[in-house]
Amino acid sequence: MIKDFVSLFFPRVCLTCQGALGKGLNEICVNCLQELPKTLNHEVPIPEFEQRFSGIVDYDQVLVYLFFQKRGIVQKLLHELKYNDKPEIGQILGKWYGKELAIAGYDKKFDVVLPIPLHQGRLRVRGYNQSEQFALGLSQSLGLKMLPNGLERVRANETQTRKNREQRWQNVSGVFAVTDLEAVANQRVLLVDDVLTTGSTLVAAAEPLFDARVKNISFAVMAAAK
Ligand SMILES: [Zn+2]
Repeated sequence: MIKDFVSLFFPRVCLTCQGALGKGLNEICVNCLQELPKTLNHEVPIPEFEQRFSGIVDYDQVLVYLFFQKRGIVQKLLHELKYNDKPEIGQILGKWYGKELAIAGYDKKFDVVLPIPLHQGRLRVRGYNQSEQFALGLSQSLGLKMLPNGLERVRANETQTRKNREQRWQNVSGVFAVTDLEAVANQRVLLVDDVLTTGSTLVAAAEPLFDARVKNISFAVMAAAK
């Protein structure tokens, strides 16, 4: 009752279009939800996404929820998630995506969900790891165990923006370490990041996991540009 009373004066609005939110909807209205540009690459693989990894790392699946376009709805969502203290966006997107994947049988393809850890400095500023929020939503909908601290950053990497492709690979190699070898040994791991750009972060995170003798590795991200 108090909640209804409050919403009389502070109506809940959609994060992307500022339109009124219907009851039971979390953060994003029905119209915007229908407009989400899904890649559906769990149904039909998209070569541009596979190319980031094939021949570079041994992987099982690349799963990209949404297409990233500048000034589009996905950019707006990611911006709110990263810079406007809205961890719930990551969790909601993870839940929605996880439901779609579960319907397609992907809940049987993995054993554990493992987010890429955020730099300590950024974690202090932001207060949460957006990739972990997305991973949490995924793990809930897929009914899988989540290992929030399964990986740690053991070496700080410099900013990637001024580096060429080869320099980027060298830059991230050895950045991550597995914290609990027993927790991942012989597991089918779903590695989760926020966005997919070159893929070098996910490849670097896969490195110590293979050393820890996982069964296989798949990648899941919220968004990527083609
Ligand atoms: Zn909307």
